Amino acid sequence: MLLCEQALGKKCPFGILYFPDQNYSVRLTATEGDKAAVIRDLEQIWTMFKTESLPRRAPEWKCNYCEVKRYCWT
Ligand code: SF4
Repeated sequence: MLLCEQALGKKCPFGILYFPDQNYSVRLTATEGDKAAVIRDLEQIWTMFKTESLPRRAPEWKCNYCEVKRYCWT
C-alpha cells in the first residue's frame, strides 16, 4: 500500500494479501497509524543494516515455526 501510494501519489484505500499456494486472498485495510508503524520498522531495519547490528531475539515460544531457529538458539 505504501509503495502504491508513493508511486501513484494517491491514497490507497485497501491492499490485498495473496497466498499463491492456497490461491487465496484477503483484503486488508491499514490506518495511518499502521502505515507509520511500518515506516518506523523499516527505519529500524535500515539502521540495523547500516550498523551491522543484530535485532533483539524474540522470546523462544514465538520461534516454533521460524526457519532460522536452529541458528538463533544454538
Ligand atoms: S528463531 Fe526466528 S523468530 Fe526466533 S528470535 Fe530467531 S529469527 Fe526471531
